Amino acid sequence: MSRRKTRPARPARPAPSAPAVTAESPCPCGLPAPYGACCEPFHTGPATAPTAELLMRSRYSAFVVRDEPYLLRTWAPATRPADVDFDPTLRWTGLTIEATTDGTAFHQHGTVTFRARFTHAGTPGELHERSRFARHEGAWVYVDGDFLD
Ligand SMILES: [Zn+2]
Repeated sequence: MSRRKTRPARPARPAPSAPAVTAESPCPCGLPAPYGACCEPFHTGPATAPTAELLMRSRYSAFVVRDEPYLLRTWAPATRPADVDFDPTLRWTGLTIEATTDGTAFHQHGTVTFRARFTHAGTPGELHERSRFARHEGAWVYVDGDFLD
């Protein structure tokens, strides 16, 4: 994968804790489409997610494939961290969108409530969050979120 710029000349072998996602793989975000026709065009650009929900899905997929530049450029400048720490023992295993408010082509803000499943050092867990999104220079960006029970 061209995004893995830190592993240039090695033979194609997935990192131990990062699943190999190819353009033909089912998209990590859970939509019934291959990655190459779903979230990858947003990751590689210049396509941008047209709704807050699709941005949320593409950011989840970016965590799966460890696309730090995409995560940073889809983070609101006011809340954007300097970098993204990918925990090598954490593996994302699935995303369920529970609810959305606004966040369409007609809105400037939106929320997405989701459950993101993972294993951390082999132990399964789940992140339940309501995330806030806003438009920045026309494109949807992640602002922040509240953890839910
Ligand atoms: Zn996707």
